[in-house]
Amino acid sequence: MTSLWQAEPPVIHTDAFEPDSSFDEVIVGGGITGLVAAVLFARQGRSVAVVEARTIGSGTTGSSTAKVSRLQGTQFSRVSSHGYPAILQAYAEASSDAFDWVIDYATDHAVPIERRDAYTYAGTPEGTSRVDHEYHLARKVGLDVQRLPEAPLPFRTHGAIRLADQAQIDPLRLLAALCAELHTLGGKIFEYSRVTGVKASSPAVVTTTDGKLSAEHVILATGTPILYRGLYFTKVSAQRSYAQSFEVPADSLPDGMFLNVETPTRSVRTAGSLLLTGGNGHGVGREASPQARVDELTAWTTKHWPEAHLTHAWSAQDYSAAHHVPFVGWLPRGRGKIFLATGYDKWGMTNGVAAALTLVADILGSNTHWQKTLHHRITLPRVIATGIGENAAVAWWYAREYASALSTRLPSTPPAEGEGQVGRGWPAPVAVSTVGSVTCRVSAVCPHLAAIVTWNDAEKSWDCPAHGSRFSADGTRLEGPTTRDLTRLAIP
Ligand SMILES: Cc1cc2nc3c(=O)[nH]c(=O)nc-3n(C[C@H](O)[C@H](O)[C@H](O)COP(=O)(O)OP(=O)(O)OC[C@H]3O[C@@H](n4cnc5c(N)ncnc54)[C@H](O)[C@@H]3O)c2cc1C
Repeated sequence: MTSLWQAEPPVIHTDAFEPDSSFDEVIVGGGITGLVAAVLFARQGRSVAVVEARTIGSGTTGSSTAKVSRLQGTQFSRVSSHGYPAILQAYAEASSDAFDWVIDYATDHAVPIERRDAYTYAGTPEGTSRVDHEYHLARKVGLDVQRLPEAPLPFRTHGAIRLADQAQIDPLRLLAALCAELHTLGGKIFEYSRVTGVKASSPAVVTTTDGKLSAEHVILATGTPILYRGLYFTKVSAQRSYAQSFEVPADSLPDGMFLNVETPTRSVRTAGSLLLTGGNGHGVGREASPQARVDELTAWTTKHWPEAHLTHAWSAQDYSAAHHVPFVGWLPRGRGKIFLATGYDKWGMTNGVAAALTLVADILGSNTHWQKTLHHRITLPRVIATGIGENAAVAWWYAREYASALSTRLPSTPPAEGEGQVGRGWPAPVAVSTVGSVTCRVSAVCPHLAAIVTWNDAEKSWDCPAHGSRFSADGTRLEGPTTRDLTRLAIP
């Protein structure tokens, strides 16, 4: 499933891998976090290499709905319910600085950007009090929001908040501009090189599928960290969600960017003459039929825009921390050589930029007030309880999928086109699928931490319900914390 932006990607120049070369900073991951950090380091005269496992923007950034906004649905309520008021204020200031950075960057580098009002709205009468609470918090952190009886959408709403003059972008065009600037500053961009390990020596040694690099510092900007140190994959949950674009009559295009306060999430924006809708998220690998989520989002859109004609449908995943504030900084046992950023809660267009600003300040400068506050976050008991709840859920998925695999005998005939099945095998459960008339047999055991993968009927992929690793039907790693593929097995 290709995103609207990836369907016609901008040209991005990359470099041939240079084995055994040395850099001041090696950035792992070519999404918004990695590329903003790379440019900021290069502007300070540091030698920089970006190492990307697939292509620039092939991760979540290239599939984002890419609203750049200080008003973020009910994010202030989420942060506030899990942290102290100072954290909420610091989160709002981080978003604000990051927002300004993106707007200035887009303006200075001719990246197309559409300014729109952002709305948080209630789609049900029960949602109205949540709108009120978010309005109160948004005011408290200093945003000039207005409370409206309704959002300007073609269906009934039950109250809304508006923040004027926010923005929507094509995220790949932003990444292309960052890559171009990085090149003018002497930085290197290596695509199709997967980092498989980092040694926290002096200098640090980065092992990739193309050879080794050395660096003074290594930044893991990989969505969720790929190293076991710090166990960050147990501190964030991986959430998959959906987006679609539609042709609609010009006079039915909504004027603004919208997000409801309820579940399922309904996100609305435009992109030129197209309507974009999104939402319907769930834990990665934990949904019986992701395709049903896709169909349901299409049905919701065509119910409210009856003349809508689908042009693109895609999905992507992002990571949430229990306290809804990103983890940014040095990696435990990384000896001050390895840094990470994760847990953007689907607000990475600002949180990713705030993370990059923080990491560059951590390494080369001094932290701003909001950076210091977010670094010194104190964990509240209810955050710990949420974390324990998520890890209990992970344990439940291990037990459930092992029990299901061991009690299922795989049929002797291959699965029908587009289907995948997991069943008993020796020495471990086996996953079989048929995609494009090709039947593949792979180990069903995720190489990250040995959970059993489940079939994603929308993406035709194997997804891990424990920590969010994903693999194509033939077992090739797509994303998530693992650095390895599923073991390929012979067809009997
Ligand atoms: C459907 C959806 C809609 C969203 N909409 C919005 C929105 O409207 N506004 C907003 O602010 N945020 C939004 N978000 C969130 C935002 O898009 C993300 O938080 C952000 O793009 C994450 O950026 P990143 O750079 O951290 O990760 P990514 O963009 O995922 O980049 C990480 C990169 O690391 C690479 N990588 C991974 N492992 C390795 C390895 N071992 N070696 C080398 N490279 C590796 C990957 O291939 C990838 O390219 C949305 C998220 C989703 C899922």
